[in-house]
Amino acid sequence: MSFGELCSVLEKSASISSRLMKVALIAEYLRGLEGEDLEIAARFMSGDVYPRGSGLDAGVGHSMLMEAVAEVTGAPREELLEAYRRHGDLGEAARELMEARGGGALATLVQAEPLSLRGLYGELTRLARISGEGSYQRKLSRVRGLLASCSPLEAKYLVKLLLGELRTGAVEGVVEQAIAEAFGVDLEEVKRGRLLTGDMGEVAELARRGELGRLGVRPFRPLGFMLAEALASPQEAAERYPGRELIAEYKYDGIRAQLHASGGEVRIFSRRLEDVTRSFPEVVESARGLDAILDGEAVAFRDGRPLPFRELQRRLRRKDPRELMEEVPVVYFAYDALYVGGRSLLDEPLRERRRALEELLGGGRGSIAVSPRWTVRSAGEIAELFRRSRAEGYEGLMLKDPESAYELGKRGWKWMKLKEELDTIDAVVVGAEYGHGRRAGLLSDLIFAVWDGGELKVVGKAYSGLTDREIEWMTRRLKELEVRDEGLRILVRPEIVVEVAFDSVQESDRHPGGYAFRFPRIKSVRLDKGPEDADTIEKLRRLAEISRARAKAK
Ligand code: AMP
Repeated sequence: MSFGELCSVLEKSASISSRLMKVALIAEYLRGLEGEDLEIAARFMSGDVYPRGSGLDAGVGHSMLMEAVAEVTGAPREELLEAYRRHGDLGEAARELMEARGGGALATLVQAEPLSLRGLYGELTRLARISGEGSYQRKLSRVRGLLASCSPLEAKYLVKLLLGELRTGAVEGVVEQAIAEAFGVDLEEVKRGRLLTGDMGEVAELARRGELGRLGVRPFRPLGFMLAEALASPQEAAERYPGRELIAEYKYDGIRAQLHASGGEVRIFSRRLEDVTRSFPEVVESARGLDAILDGEAVAFRDGRPLPFRELQRRLRRKDPRELMEEVPVVYFAYDALYVGGRSLLDEPLRERRRALEELLGGGRGSIAVSPRWTVRSAGEIAELFRRSRAEGYEGLMLKDPESAYELGKRGWKWMKLKEELDTIDAVVVGAEYGHGRRAGLLSDLIFAVWDGGELKVVGKAYSGLTDREIEWMTRRLKELEVRDEGLRILVRPEIVVEVAFDSVQESDRHPGGYAFRFPRIKSVRLDKGPEDADTIEKLRRLAEISRARAKAK
């Protein structure tokens, strides 16, 4: 099966606006595939090159692709930049230049066979394995070779695939639906399969064979995280669970992490299901010998108290985490067990999972601790515990329904979070303005956006609360991502996620997203999150509700 065909389907799908028709088109295409072809096609379509959690990463960034496109098309750098700025999309720019220049010098020389899906995937796997000295040049030369054997349309999609640009929520949903339709299986089963395997390819092939139902939990295959809704007040929690007990835990300000250990091996996955094992050597050491999958938070922690998130971030920015291991020690606070000793606990109620967790870890194990927990029954008890958590340096409380199963990849009221500030939002930086005075020449005012369906809508601008060094870093990064220079401000590719704090939010027509914040400020740069993890307009609607409720209560 050819890559070209896949590209034609993607191109056609992008040109139709009806979701149902997109689904039908992709379903028809997938129905004609099987085995490895189907796996690769479904995975590519959902925006992933490799199965998530496979540890494979092409390691091909924007600048390498620019270089490769320039060489293959023979276009001078200025012309490429100009095309890129015009489209705001390097894939589209590559296609235009290739069309204009007759497909590139190399392509005409080596009239190659059409690129097959398997051939391309094999090549991309080899690409991921290149490491060590001179790897940039070796990777560049492979990417160049690949692009040279592409038609203009194939080049467009190869570039977008390598940049992760096909990976937006909307596309993923459409592919899931198409798999369900193509192979006559339940959409919920497809979604669950996706959350269990992290790989749309495997899900598609299992759906075709009618074997989705047999999927289970397996160590080293990351699972979608369960997420919480934000509470306006302790009263709200009590009202949602009248007369019921809730499990309360500290809300840690660290990095959500899923720890997999089995057969002497350990791996840690971030919320994006990326392998972040290298960042936490002390946790890895402590986890050796376990046979479990745990959910919890990696927290910078010293002398019995949590350190600010900023400290953890400082450590994560280092190439070698060991440099700051002593100064910024990390403790992994486990608060859930998803799998222990060969058995999945996903469908067990939380109180059982907690019991299993405590049995497994006892009083803790090196740099792994069991998150303390309390049972609370009333708004008064919640409020008191909340004050205690704040006094001890935590962000607030998590309140959880003890009877709830672990819902993969879902945000809901089974888990609730209570913070002092109104909850923060995770937004994507889409542009930035130059600062004044001491910050002249630095991009210190960030324009940020959240998702509305498949689109990013600008919802505000914040003078960043970042340190000088962070602003310098941000300015450099933003310049790399620049797509348009508008003089006083630049627009950038949506890649950086920031956590924005604010006093309140309300409906407003000041920004395209339809909301405005009071005193927005950048709280942190979330290197652990990607644009697809950013929040949605839905969340702002909910926050505006909470803002109103809190204003009234005052
Ligand atoms: P959000 O990302 O907005 O859903 O906020 C919830 C986040 O709080 C989770 O993703 C975790 O990273 C974090 N968190 C901190 N402490 C806990 C806890 N005890 N239980 C669950 N999540 C927690």
